[in-house]
Amino acid sequence: MKTNTRLPISLPDNSLNSESLRKAEPVGGPFTVTATLVSIDDILDWQEGRCNFDYGYYRFIDNPTLCQIQEGLQTYYQVRHCLLYTSFKTAAMELLDYLLLTKPQMRIKVVCDLEENSLASLEHSYPGLYTSVSIVSPSNASELFPLSNAKDEILVINVQHPLSFLKAHSDFLQSAKAARIPILVASEKFPEKMRKGPTEPETLHPLVNYWIFPLQDKVHPVTGGVILSKLDRQMTELKELRKQRGPILSSRDAAYFLGQIDAPRNNHGEQVIRRLCDLENAQHGFLFSSGMGAITTILSLLRSPGKVQIIVVGLLYTDTYALMTYAKQRIGRVENVFLGVEELDQLPDVINEQTAAIITETMTNPLSDVPDLETITHIAKQHHVPVIVDNTLATPVNCKPLDLGADYVIHSTTKYFNGKNNHGGGAILLNDTQVAEKIRKYQEQWGNVLSSLESVVLWKNLHDFEERMQLFQKNAIQIAEFLEQHPGVEKVYCPWLPSHRSYQAAQKILTGPGSVISFTLKQPGLEGLRLFYDAPLDHILKAPSLGSNQTILCPYTLLAHYHEPDDALAELELSRYLIRISVGCEMEIKPVMDSLDQALRATLT
Ligand code: PLP
Repeated sequence: MKTNTRLPISLPDNSLNSESLRKAEPVGGPFTVTATLVSIDDILDWQEGRCNFDYGYYRFIDNPTLCQIQEGLQTYYQVRHCLLYTSFKTAAMELLDYLLLTKPQMRIKVVCDLEENSLASLEHSYPGLYTSVSIVSPSNASELFPLSNAKDEILVINVQHPLSFLKAHSDFLQSAKAARIPILVASEKFPEKMRKGPTEPETLHPLVNYWIFPLQDKVHPVTGGVILSKLDRQMTELKELRKQRGPILSSRDAAYFLGQIDAPRNNHGEQVIRRLCDLENAQHGFLFSSGMGAITTILSLLRSPGKVQIIVVGLLYTDTYALMTYAKQRIGRVENVFLGVEELDQLPDVINEQTAAIITETMTNPLSDVPDLETITHIAKQHHVPVIVDNTLATPVNCKPLDLGADYVIHSTTKYFNGKNNHGGGAILLNDTQVAEKIRKYQEQWGNVLSSLESVVLWKNLHDFEERMQLFQKNAIQIAEFLEQHPGVEKVYCPWLPSHRSYQAAQKILTGPGSVISFTLKQPGLEGLRLFYDAPLDHILKAPSLGSNQTILCPYTLLAHYHEPDDALAELELSRYLIRISVGCEMEIKPVMDSLDQALRATLT
């Protein structure tokens, strides 16, 4: 057993001992958001489930600090699954949200004896989706009868002493179990027993399906939430949703709980928000634990009964795209609408009374298509439909979407704002004070906030953002032109090149190209890609992510759309062998160019 100072329990040290675990080099230190994948075979092995990595993109591969806590708790509680979230509330809300995914009419029955509890206000937290929430005190638990059947009820036990409640009400629980009703225990503090430190493993109550608790006491500078369960399918799906929706515990916070780093002395969240508001000409800003957390939040808030459809303009970042499918499942019948950036003439026709929002990216990831934002916002205003713009790739140095009439700007602060591959976070920026108040309440209810430790890193790295951007773009233009004339390259996607289909829109909307460029090779197929990617590529990080100060490159489609069949990729106009390079802000870009040249020449032999 390994003892640590912060967690009220000591964790068995069984982490990272799996045979299929492969070493990946973290970039940006132990709290990296990405890691190098040196060969195409590494990527194929990972995608085919033949291996896992100890480090990787932060929402896809849990940092070792998270693994250590998760695996420790699994062992201690003798369950197969443990997932960490940014807070107790986030864990509870994400689980309920998941359970409601396929059954939006589900009734939630809560037994609760807490005065100031986070779940009691469930009704207000998710307008329209929780159709019924009944809350009773433990002494009145029988009022929740009849528990009807498995089809439409969830039982949440949110009491001070869950173990005593479970003991005293075993008949009640048996009947819930017999009716196949999911039973959750949402325990807002550690059971006293665990606080003393374990001498032997605990077992979860056999009738409970999910156990949720915080990783800390109530007054604490760092938050964290846990879901434990034995259910394989549900926890695997929940993990996939955590990746897409992004409410994951920061690796720094996990290290804090493990006693590896000190408590945050400051929270620079407010300073970061003011700085981002200045950059985007926004009045209000909110920070989240990831870019996807920001996107999930704004989409959830804008959807309401009767207004559920999202119009998606352009091929957006893979997980934003995946969220659109998720929304489709949740809402059932309503299809989201997908338009290309060149199909804006169809926009007025596809907007209808069910349209909740239009979402796009100033420059799409990875093909760098540029939508004509002025046209979109003009049409949207005529129909009173809000416009969400993800400005991560273009950055406010090149475009301020709020000035062009957009309603909400999204950022993955993980990227250019931070630049060092050592921070994960996201932001929503806006001007509407009423909606800002709604976001504030929603964030309070869901508990998905940027941790103080992350805010300190982001604040530090933001100081020279504008200067770095100038260098990013200068280098990027050189690399784009170099790639375009290279005999090994088939096609280059950079909106600053006149050959790009969005060149005109880019000239109209942007003042610079950012630094994300995609390209395909003349040498077709996996073999060509292997020859290029497996070359040394000195001075370049071979890793997923973008906006890194050091040039970073990955086989984008193999990482982000691996399971997509050929016809689906063809429809998205996405080559399976697309390479995405995010050019860095190196003072001297020539070594990067030479390295690219060498790898490209290897494909020609
Ligand atoms: N938006 C864009 C354009 C992105 O490229 C990404 C991630 O790459 C995200 C959002 C999600 O950000 P995060 O990974 O920080 O959740």
